Amino acid sequence: KPVDQLTTSEAQQETAALQKRLTEYGVAYYEKDAPLVEDHVYDEEYARLVALEARFPQFVNPDSPTQNVGGAETKSGLPKVTHPVPMLSLGDVFSLDELQEWEDRTVKSLGQQPKYNLELKIDGLAIALRYENGRLIQASTRGNGVIGEDVTANVKTIKAVPQELKEKVNIEVRGEVYMPKESFVQLNEAREADGQEPFANPRNAAAGSLRQLDAKVTRARKLSAFIYYTAEPEVLGATNQSQVLERFADLGLPTETHNRVINKMDEVGDYIDWCTAQRDELPFGIDGVVVKVNNFDLEYDLGNTVKVPRWAIAYKFPPEEANTVVREIEWTV
Ligand code: NAD
Repeated sequence: KPVDQLTTSEAQQETAALQKRLTEYGVAYYEKDAPLVEDHVYDEEYARLVALEARFPQFVNPDSPTQNVGGAETKSGLPKVTHPVPMLSLGDVFSLDELQEWEDRTVKSLGQQPKYNLELKIDGLAIALRYENGRLIQASTRGNGVIGEDVTANVKTIKAVPQELKEKVNIEVRGEVYMPKESFVQLNEAREADGQEPFANPRNAAAGSLRQLDAKVTRARKLSAFIYYTAEPEVLGATNQSQVLERFADLGLPTETHNRVINKMDEVGDYIDWCTAQRDELPFGIDGVVVKVNNFDLEYDLGNTVKVPRWAIAYKFPPEEANTVVREIEWTV
């Protein structure tokens, strides 16, 4: 039934049921790295919950998955780290029309047309790296956005992450740890040969491999990383996102270099087509494109909700027909 045809009591029941179910999916996905359903199923149910809560705001509660980043506080046994600047999620859209609606809202709220930096949406898990005097001193996961897990020893086994930057700066940078497609295929083959359950996808494999109590296990998993964010761009003298990526490269941080700056949203279609065409060729998984306002003054004006920045949005690719097993075969040929 369309949301606007529901009675209040039907809406209350459905909202509560979806909040409960999506929370359970979240626990399996974020804490156990073993999803119960495919992402597109989660995304569809989540979109329905967003629509219900928008129409019936009296049923929004602080525990709703729409109000929280990631899962609950994690119970992996790793030490906890508090993020002084919360690590947020991203709002998402599934069509060019929805992307245009997001741009209309953004332009209206800013009173001007911003430029955008387009980036690949890397299918991994978010990571924060703290460098002091150019040295890596702490690495942590996003967790519930405010409290994450200390994975410093594990991250030090990832070759792509420099232990020492080329400049002696104090900065926290954030990005994505991912499992290259090749490592994923090898890992699942080895797990199956060993009688172990294979990982559902490279994202869950990356998360399961990083959130280990024994760094030797992480080392064997051959993870990699891309860095794309800092809450302290002034440390780098950068005034927009594309400059930040250039400065990260100067520092020796791993950056994904297929980003592109556009003047208006109607240029995004070409980039999405290009990414869709390249997707299978890339050595790592992507699940969409991230659009970011390319001007920090405007970003600060837009600000964040409790869960997502208003200055960025993820365009998610439609679900792939092929399941993981089929994809694995494609990757190995
Ligand atoms: P998300 O993964 O959809 O998007 C936010 C994340 O994108 C950021 O935290 C960051 O880690 C990442 N990212 C990758 N490239 C980036 C870039 N270039 N710039 C900025 N960020 C980038 O959001 P989420 O909150 O981590 O997870 C929600 C999604 O997880 C859902 O949409 C769903 O697909 C999936 N999920 C699935 C299940 C399931 O049961 N299958 C359960 C929960 C969540």
